[in-house]
Amino acid sequence: MHPYPFAYHRATSVEDALTVLAAHEEDGKLLAGGQSLLPVMKLRLASPGTIVDITGLSELRGVSLVGEAIEIGALTTHHDIETDPVLAQHVPLLPAIAHVVGDQQVRHRGTFGGTLAHADAAGDYPAGVLALGAEVVVQGPDGERVIPIDDFFLGFLTTALAPNELITRVRIPVPPTGAGWNYQKLANPASGYAIVGVAVLLTTGEGGEIETLRIGITGTSDIAYRPTATEDALIGSSPDPEAIAAAAALATDGVDILGDQHAPVDYRTRVTQNLVRRAIEDALR
Ligand SMILES: Cc1cc2nc3c(=O)[nH]c(=O)nc-3n(C[C@H](O)[C@H](O)[C@H](O)COP(=O)(O)OP(=O)(O)OC[C@H]3O[C@@H](n4cnc5c(N)ncnc54)[C@H](O)[C@@H]3O)c2cc1C
Repeated sequence: MHPYPFAYHRATSVEDALTVLAAHEEDGKLLAGGQSLLPVMKLRLASPGTIVDITGLSELRGVSLVGEAIEIGALTTHHDIETDPVLAQHVPLLPAIAHVVGDQQVRHRGTFGGTLAHADAAGDYPAGVLALGAEVVVQGPDGERVIPIDDFFLGFLTTALAPNELITRVRIPVPPTGAGWNYQKLANPASGYAIVGVAVLLTTGEGGEIETLRIGITGTSDIAYRPTATEDALIGSSPDPEAIAAAAALATDGVDILGDQHAPVDYRTRVTQNLVRRAIEDALR
């Protein structure tokens, strides 16, 4: 199917993109990798009147170490993340996640910022950025603002981004040396999307006790989330496998679990608890 007709503007700068977006606030859409926007347009589930193509804005692409944080430009592709040496050294969780996103074509076109803005319930990065405690830097008509990741995902395909704002980059605090990390994913064999994905970042003290623990879960519900009951149950302890399993069982408490033909509610619940347990155990090794 072809999309509905639309006007096309190729942005020459972030300011230019924001000006055109502001003029078409009701029906303007940014185009980054196009891997989510174009399919929904072709299916006519979205019909933006104006497309603002930002793919030429090279200043929005790249990874750099800035003080105690890594900054990732919004247009950095999944392939860039998968192969970036700075990330490999400082935040290996992200390349590990990028490696299991979609297929080669998706990884070469799709972007980090586009994935976060789209907030697909089955997207992989939302789990990772929640575990990493990222901050999303956005630019709008009134200048720049920083959104902590815990406040960014609001619901199904919904974020704290305003329609006239653009993600410029994402800031990831560099995890302490020796931090444990892990990403577990049960992928949909047809699409590659996560039926469930679990990211873990933790640090341990000299006695082996868990000092800090952040967990991000995607796919389980219509919004990526942190299972804080699991985190709270384990922080400060040196858990044995039984204690980890008991804490992992809390990861679905109070969560509105998705059920579909790929994974009914009971199955998705058990997969989530098992992947949380496995991700924590692997991060502790
Ligand atoms: C076959 C297939 C398999 C896939 N498998 C997976 C998978 O396994 N895991 C996974 O996580 N994803 C998967 N994806 C999705 C893929 O990761 C997309 O790249 C991603 O969801 C969207 O990024 P994009 O750059 O293509 O954004 P686009 O499609 O260009 O845009 C998506 C949305 O974000 C907005 N947007 C884009 N950039 C910005 C910005 N800088 N600021 C504000 N808003 C912005 C757009 O306006 C649009 O609303 C798959 C896609 C396909 C087609």
